[in-house]
Amino acid sequence: MATVKEYSVEEKLVSVLKLQKIDSKLDEIQILKGELPIEVKDLEDEIEGLNHRQNHIEDEMRSIQDFVSNKKNAIKDSEALIKKYEKQQNNVKNSREFEAISKEIEMQTLEIKLSEKHMKDASEEIKDKSRVLEAAKKAVSDKETNLKHKKGELEKIIAETEKEENAFRKQSEEARTKVDSRLLAAYEKIRNNYRNGLAVVSVMRDSCGGCFNAIPPQRQAEIRHRKKIIVCEHCGRVLVDNDLEATVTI
Ligand SMILES: [Zn+2]
Repeated sequence: MATVKEYSVEEKLVSVLKLQKIDSKLDEIQILKGELPIEVKDLEDEIEGLNHRQNHIEDEMRSIQDFVSNKKNAIKDSEALIKKYEKQQNNVKNSREFEAISKEIEMQTLEIKLSEKHMKDASEEIKDKSRVLEAAKKAVSDKETNLKHKKGELEKIIAETEKEENAFRKQSEEARTKVDSRLLAAYEKIRNNYRNGLAVVSVMRDSCGGCFNAIPPQRQAEIRHRKKIIVCEHCGRVLVDNDLEATVTI
């Protein structure tokens, strides 16, 4: 007949604590993996945004350049008109007609001056935009360098953690078989209830290491005795004393 080994409370606590430590390592790996892809994604989004900005500035610059060439054409037209008017002035019949043409010439001359001023302003604007464009290009190139670095880091970490993760997973499965079945069920249930995945915690500064509620001295003494499994009356986590916490390693 097979004999079922009876574990002492201390042995039970040691096995479940060991399992907790292994599972916490697995949790750490998950957190690490969870953050890096987000960082990479954020950088990719930022680069996309900057590229959009760059395209927008380039569009604006093109439209300013169009504006400048329109003004150049307008000047040419005005110059042609002035030439035409000057010819007409040679063939006028009276001074009134001469005056009228002079007014037209004057108006076209003003048009030219105005166009020249607009062109000057536009070329200043283009200079400003090209400075902004250069800054955007620099920002993109910096981010791309950073992205390349992060991607490399991520790939490296994935490669590294895969090995580590597999090892811890194997260890976790093994450790699980050594935990008392009722205690294991409680462990799984508590672990699933808390985001930090802690089901077994030690007493820290007279408080539960999971929920930080105070533990009365009498209860702390019971925890140290290891004769009974003590759970936190506030959060239900299994409590262990600091010495046990320090001695159990993985
Ligand atoms: Zn607690």
